[in-house]
Amino acid sequence: MSSPILPGSELGVLGGGQLGRMFALAARRMGYRVSVFAPEDDTPAGQIAFREVRASYDDLDAVADFARTVDVVTFEFENVPTGTVEAASRHAPVRPAGRLLYATQERLREKAALVDLGLPVAVHAAIESAEELARAAEQVGFPAILKTAAWGYDGKGQARIERAEELERAWKEIGGGRAVLEVLVPFEAEISVIGARGLDGSIALYEPFLNRHENHILDVTVFPAGITEATRREAQRIARAVLEGFDVCGVLCVELFLLEGGELLVNEVAPRPHNSGHVTIDAHVTSQFEEQVRAVCGLPLGAVEPLAPAGAMANLLGDLWESRAPAWDAALSDPGLRLHLYGKAEPRPGRKMGHLSVIAATAEEAERRVRAARDAVARG
Ligand code: AMP
Repeated sequence: MSSPILPGSELGVLGGGQLGRMFALAARRMGYRVSVFAPEDDTPAGQIAFREVRASYDDLDAVADFARTVDVVTFEFENVPTGTVEAASRHAPVRPAGRLLYATQERLREKAALVDLGLPVAVHAAIESAEELARAAEQVGFPAILKTAAWGYDGKGQARIERAEELERAWKEIGGGRAVLEVLVPFEAEISVIGARGLDGSIALYEPFLNRHENHILDVTVFPAGITEATRREAQRIARAVLEGFDVCGVLCVELFLLEGGELLVNEVAPRPHNSGHVTIDAHVTSQFEEQVRAVCGLPLGAVEPLAPAGAMANLLGDLWESRAPAWDAALSDPGLRLHLYGKAEPRPGRKMGHLSVIAATAEEAERRVRAARDAVARG
């Protein structure tokens, strides 16, 4: 096994968003230098980094120059083009390796890979044309969700379809192209498992988180998830299978639908730390970002036990800025609340600007307090 990349080394991140920012904060705390490669400047990650390189992902000379100057490359944004990852991997190890990234960049590819691993996914069909959509609808049934195969996240490029008459509208709404039609899963809850796998194959799995969405965007995450022991074990088995199946060195998140009766279906895999894991920064022995640092550097993984019986995280979207400047002081009047802002200059509706988190004695209390704090921010 190659020797570990020790503190003092330079870690390269492709992508400049909040996930890169929180990775950089964890890495800097441990004494690493972090360089960020992104097509914009003054990015959330770049603000924390030792060096911010502004260039297009298609500028492969710039990517090669970047990779030459760092000890390892990771990414915080899953839509980094495959060619960019390949160019980087000629000069530095890229962790996780491109295979996982490639599979998760396209929904159909991802579902096929999950099925190959023997993992459960929702009934779905591949679509390339309006005619195929009509045929697929007979097979999948209604209600259904039509999703673009590529570049979708947070419910973007998705249309819900209740009956046959809506197929044409939905096809137009997502802009045509390669797509997947999925049955609308009547889930009881959405949960996620975040896991890390080290260079030596060791695995650390956080307990499942319970996720509540608003408008297809994660709104609140809570733990414990209030699930049975059997569901917890099965959710973690699935995450382990993905980590091992893709031979991952790094962190990933498996998003799952929990059905009545306890069955689990994989909705999506994120090949990186995930919004539902932000609570681990304040609530767990080792955060998901520190696990990513440890994994990609070939260090032993940290403990993933929670520091309290319960915790919760609430996202702060740009919508909060609509009527007035957010009153951060009001959120902090609960002394247990932790405020995280991502340094984004421009608030836009639906844009993730930051989050709040809290630990507590019960999941109910944690959720109540994090929601109350967010309401107080909005009210002023
Ligand atoms: P996605 O971008 O696929 O993760 O979708 C975002 C959110 O939309 C999910 O977290 C669910 O709340 C909802 N969603 C997506 N696909 C389905 C489905 N097949 N059935 C029910 N809800 C879904």
